[in-house]
Amino acid sequence: MDHSEGTSKSVSRRTVALVAPLYNEEAVAPLLIREIEAFREAHPEVVEVILVDDGSRDGTAEKVRALTAGKSGYVLLQFSRNFGHQIAITAGMEFVTADAAIIMDADLQDPLSVAAKMIDKWREGYDVVYGLREEREGETVFKRATAWLFYRFFNHMTDVQAPRDTGDFRLVSRPVLDAYRRLGESQPFVRGLIAWLGFEQTGIRYRRPPRAAGRPKYSFRKSLRLAVDSITSFSQKPLWYAIGVGMTIALLSMVGIAWALLQKYAFGGVVPGWTSLIFAAFFFGGVQLFFLGVTGAYLARVYEEVKGRPRYLLRDVWRSNGDSGDAPA
Ligand code: UDP
Ligand code: MG
Repeated sequence: MDHSEGTSKSVSRRTVALVAPLYNEEAVAPLLIREIEAFREAHPEVVEVILVDDGSRDGTAEKVRALTAGKSGYVLLQFSRNFGHQIAITAGMEFVTADAAIIMDADLQDPLSVAAKMIDKWREGYDVVYGLREEREGETVFKRATAWLFYRFFNHMTDVQAPRDTGDFRLVSRPVLDAYRRLGESQPFVRGLIAWLGFEQTGIRYRRPPRAAGRPKYSFRKSLRLAVDSITSFSQKPLWYAIGVGMTIALLSMVGIAWALLQKYAFGGVVPGWTSLIFAAFFFGGVQLFFLGVTGAYLARVYEEVKGRPRYLLRDVWRSNGDSGDAPA
């Protein structure tokens, strides 16, 4: 009698997992685990903590093992190398067995007090509860400005209306986890894909505190990569823009040619146009290279998908041994 199919109202809403990616987070690991343990005292429904070591080069994995060895419910997934934040949280979500998962950064910029509110919203019946960043403390003006621009640009460029000013901090329910698993993109843009999935979604506003310890792991290069991935995976608009710009320039140049011919034959005066020529050469060279790059970005995505390589490789899956009996009934 499977009449529950598709109605997320009837699924179990008891146990919760936390999922956090760690890349060279030796400095925050002890703080993170202390916070999580304090949170679990008050929230026994958190039965699982999945930490993904994204190929750290410092002692992150050893530290996590030492700190959680006697505790219940910890799983440490160790990647064979650095695959990136988006893939790390994807792997984490795939390992969740609980009824819901909360995806959070390891550096405590996504406060657990907000996670508690997410769990309440989930119990009310929502399937996705995302964090809306009201303010960003301790982040550079450059980072805030590029992030602001990015969310607006993304919504303009794509047909997915992803909520603005959200990161990956969110709670996702079991039906969403199962749906997400069916998407096999090699370079997933997680928050966009989750918005695309649908379901009942809502947000919680919060102030984003600064990083608890250590240095940011998202370089400008990684951020730019994320932005390009996000747009090329959700939109073909840049390609249409390229066609539009190309056609406009072609039309304008025909007008220009007509004007030049008129000058030469009707009025007899030919302008000595070195300056305009050189500018035109540079300008059109630039435009052409830019749009060739845009096309290339799409081609690169197709190339990645066609190769069909696994998204990540695990070196080790480690479980803490403190499991006292099993999860609550
Ligand atoms: N991270 C990761 N792989 C990477 C880069 C970052 O798993 O290649 C993790 C990092 O350990 C942290 C989270 O992603 O838990 C967010 O990174 P960070 O705090 O540097 O980003 P920001 O908060 O500045 O956006
Ligand atoms: Mg951070």
